[in-house]
Amino acid sequence: MPSHAILALARPEVAPLPVYNAGLSSDAVRARYGVTDVARLASNENPYGASPAVGRALAGLAGQVAWYPDAACTALRAAIAAGSGAEPGQIVVGNGSEDILQMLCQAFLSPGDRVLTLQPSFGLHEIYPRMMGATVEMLPATQDLAFDVDAWCAAVARGPKLVLLPNPSNPVGCMLDAAGFARLVAAVPAGTLLVVDEAYVEYARLAPGFPDALAVLRAQARPWIVLRTFSKAWGLAGLRVGYGIASDAALVQMLDRVRTPFNVNAAAQAAALAAWGDATHMEQAVARTVAERRVLERQLHGLGVPGLRWAASATNFLFLDLGRPSGPVADALLARGIIVKPWKETGWTHCLRVTVGLPADNTRFVLALGEILRSVPHAAA
Ligand SMILES: *Cc1c(COP(=O)(O)O)cnc(C)c1O
Repeated sequence: MPSHAILALARPEVAPLPVYNAGLSSDAVRARYGVTDVARLASNENPYGASPAVGRALAGLAGQVAWYPDAACTALRAAIAAGSGAEPGQIVVGNGSEDILQMLCQAFLSPGDRVLTLQPSFGLHEIYPRMMGATVEMLPATQDLAFDVDAWCAAVARGPKLVLLPNPSNPVGCMLDAAGFARLVAAVPAGTLLVVDEAYVEYARLAPGFPDALAVLRAQARPWIVLRTFSKAWGLAGLRVGYGIASDAALVQMLDRVRTPFNVNAAAQAAALAAWGDATHMEQAVARTVAERRVLERQLHGLGVPGLRWAASATNFLFLDLGRPSGPVADALLARGIIVKPWKETGWTHCLRVTVGLPADNTRFVLALGEILRSVPHAAA
């Protein structure tokens, strides 16, 4: 706990905030458990990596690091705009899309404002609004680990200041389909800012029924922003680049007032631009991962463990309900060098999220999980 002196200085919203659970690094797992081969299945990274064009773009940068980067991300915003049918003025770029989430909360939330999101949630969808003093209403996923569309439409209609809709969801992986999304959008009052977090859109596009959110939203006369990231499908998590496509330039100009001026560094801008120019590489990685997700599901079925189930996923991960506390199971996996993410939110502590990795890592995970679940009797867990 912080000392009294520090507590007295801090804004009252800050001390109660949870610290984002970023998990263990591969090195920490090697050091702690003495394993050499670590399977990173906790952070939804792309195991196939970024386009080779990224390496070429980065190689030329050493001579330029003395100069500040382009504060306006001019070239990258122009490229993203051209590729998504928007104007450059509608594009905001962040140090990861988490940076844009923070800007949105700083620009639009005052103490007492209400924010709506899903539970279980992406940690920052709760932490950043609370940091600004907003209250966060969290709508639980259904028993079947899906969006409760009726509950969402009713809650949205009550007019929260901001709706943080992850589609598809992280950690559940479920999606709101085109019909559900259209119903939800129609229920949003004019005074609500609709934020659609599409961190996994490149995977979800392959799922039948996934909505074209931009097409739906462009037909609306209300404020909205769609967030995407280079961290997942594009394989650039280590460089931190995310972007948003906003309903209008005025929204981006508001974010420009709260963001740090040079929020996207020169290497990140160059890498994202190079990656964007090689969509084929990204699409191949996505197709492999989606195929591997099906293999992983078959292998999990094959374990025949009673009570083991998982959500239908439109992403590069699966959300497993183990039917028993997931923390000890995740610890046992960690001791074997397999990093997954046990869920810590109240009501969801029997679940864990596993990223679809390389085939060998997925198989290693399934075999270890089967062994662990069979060695710990269900009732005693
Ligand atoms: C991974 C993720 C992000 C953002 O990642 P960045 O690396 O900050 O771009 C945002 N939202 C969700 C739901 C995510 O899973």
